[in-house]
Amino acid sequence: MKPSSKPRWTWRGAPHLPVAEREALRARIVEADGSSGAHECCGLLIGSVDSEGVVRVVDWTFASNVARHPTDSFLVEADHLMRAERQAREANLALVGAWHTHPSGSTEPSAQDRRGLPEGWLGWVLTVTDQGLHIRAYRREELPRSG
Ligand SMILES: [Zn+2]
Repeated sequence: MKPSSKPRWTWRGAPHLPVAEREALRARIVEADGSSGAHECCGLLIGSVDSEGVVRVVDWTFASNVARHPTDSFLVEADHLMRAERQAREANLALVGAWHTHPSGSTEPSAQDRRGLPEGWLGWVLTVTDQGLHIRAYRREELPRSG
């Protein structure tokens, strides 16, 4: 049987993040001016994945956006990635995804967002409005097991 390599996209409307963490992240984005359209903010998601593949996010990091065109794309610097990985491991957790903002106000992941997300990772697209922080989650996964 030929294994299919076609990725399946899932869209998760209600990502879990503790309220205090959610508010702290919103404040950090506003502080960095990432809601004004100047540039995208980005960081990593730390958490765990259970045996059903459900991702639980318990913490986040705030990285420098080192993308060449930070107004409409993001790139987490390699050093930050390594530090975050170590930080997660020390807490018995793992890197489970990446988040970034869309100053445009749309939470739709771009084609580049989807292409750039490592398999199994959770991607969060964030927007900040007067009403608060909006998060849209997406994920690239293997095709579901049959049975
Ligand atoms: Zn994006």
